[in-house]
Amino acid sequence: MSSKTKITVAHGDGIGPEIMKATLNILEAAGAQLEYDVIEIGEQVYLKGISSGMEPKAFDSLRETKVFLKSPITTPQGGGFKSLNVTTRKSFGLFANVRPCKAYSPFVKTHFPKTDMVIIRENEEDLYAGIEHRQTQEVYQCLKLISQPGSEKIIRYAFEYAKKYNRKKVTCMTKDNIMKLADGLFHKTFDEIAKEYPEIETDHKIIDIGSALIAERPEIFDVIVTLNLYGDIISDIAAQVTGSVGLGGSANVGAEVAMFEAIHGSAPDIAGKDMANPSGLLNGAVMMLVHIGQPEIAEKIANAWMKTLEDGIHTGDIYQEGLSSKKVGTQEFAQAVIERLGQLPVNMVPAVFDKSSTDPINIKLAPVTKSDKKLIGVDVFIDWDKDGRDPNSIGETLRKADANGLVLQLITNRGIKVYPDGMRETFCTDHWRCRFQKSDQSPISHAQILDLMDQVAKLGFDFIKTENLYSFDGVRAYSLAQGE
Ligand code: NAD
Repeated sequence: MSSKTKITVAHGDGIGPEIMKATLNILEAAGAQLEYDVIEIGEQVYLKGISSGMEPKAFDSLRETKVFLKSPITTPQGGGFKSLNVTTRKSFGLFANVRPCKAYSPFVKTHFPKTDMVIIRENEEDLYAGIEHRQTQEVYQCLKLISQPGSEKIIRYAFEYAKKYNRKKVTCMTKDNIMKLADGLFHKTFDEIAKEYPEIETDHKIIDIGSALIAERPEIFDVIVTLNLYGDIISDIAAQVTGSVGLGGSANVGAEVAMFEAIHGSAPDIAGKDMANPSGLLNGAVMMLVHIGQPEIAEKIANAWMKTLEDGIHTGDIYQEGLSSKKVGTQEFAQAVIERLGQLPVNMVPAVFDKSSTDPINIKLAPVTKSDKKLIGVDVFIDWDKDGRDPNSIGETLRKADANGLVLQLITNRGIKVYPDGMRETFCTDHWRCRFQKSDQSPISHAQILDLMDQVAKLGFDFIKTENLYSFDGVRAYSLAQGE
């Protein structure tokens, strides 16, 4: 039986085939134990009319090998094409996006030469669930969904990653001063899981100041774990401040399948000219080798690559007069790395990967303890544009609805209380949230809600949606209105 690991390889578009060739040559020369299942993805597949950019047999290959080394692709212009990355992430449950952002100064220009951080971004939830609705003439909604297992998975992954890669600190970033329930869940889960890793320092930053600090003092961060949207934004800020956008690799990891790639795109402007820097894909491949349990080979390649940079052998994108010794093309750069296999960098800190455990990071979720859930009210959202949008007018009419004690308590407009006792200065759109509860907030039934909705419709209102109000173990599980 072969001891080689079979991986799925896609050569991609633009510079994809050139940088993949360079990368695979280095992997082979370093002694990586790999077999390839080559699939076609990207532009040609899209143009055949397959909207995902991947043929069905590509999915079969990934299901079999579970490891995907992917070159960048070109997304054709025009509508109807689905993002291949998003499809792969969602179909295979690749919940963690891992993006190391490291300075390679002075070879790559940066104001922050000591930067060495890894951003671990939740990849499946948040506003990226893509659940959007237009509800009124004026108001559109995008649902932000944060789950307990989703948060637990990514946070445990971040701590396990820190342990495996000998990192000292994990910083969580959220906006839980505003989104107390959704982001609050992520922060609370982080605090709980942190207790299981006493050897790792922990920290929490509100995302706005956290982003500012990444731009101003990136060297204070080690591992950062955060929600999908924040992670998307800060990983680009971090890559930019380290100057390593062109050199960075990234991993998308799931319970079974993982995908490794460069951060950059297919660079059609330099395609076919042997000018592209293969380092981004190579760094992705180094992460892949650690993932599949070949850390010695990963280490050998990472160190030879740094030594090549130190020796001034540079592709055009990082070539600097006076600092670089030789400008090379894609394949010559790969050859220079191959010649340095076995050597260590002198100025940069050599890469060291844990060889004691060659298993991929495996996340086990704690069993969920069920809470006592009680229905205690309903928010009814209404599209209403009458009577000069006077909140008192809608309020006085809706007060007539009474479903066995389930009555109007307040109305908000974009989250701000406007009835009763609103402020006349508050700007109102045509989108109203009307909260119905019993005056003592005691439990209600679904039948009462149905009765209420019938009355609301008969009063002439266009209700857009309802959102039930619950308590869990007696604790209110919805936000209060601003001004309530
Ligand atoms: P890009 O990253 O391809 O290029 C931006 C600039 O960086 C260009 O000037 C390019 O020449 C340069 N560059 C990029 N990689 C380089 C490398 N390895 N060596 C030297 N120079 C390099 O971004 P873009 O131009 O916005 O996008 C081009 C195409 O890539 C688009 O079709 C886009 O949809 C796609 N894209 C794909 C992925 C992916 O597959 N993961 C990611 C981003 C963009």
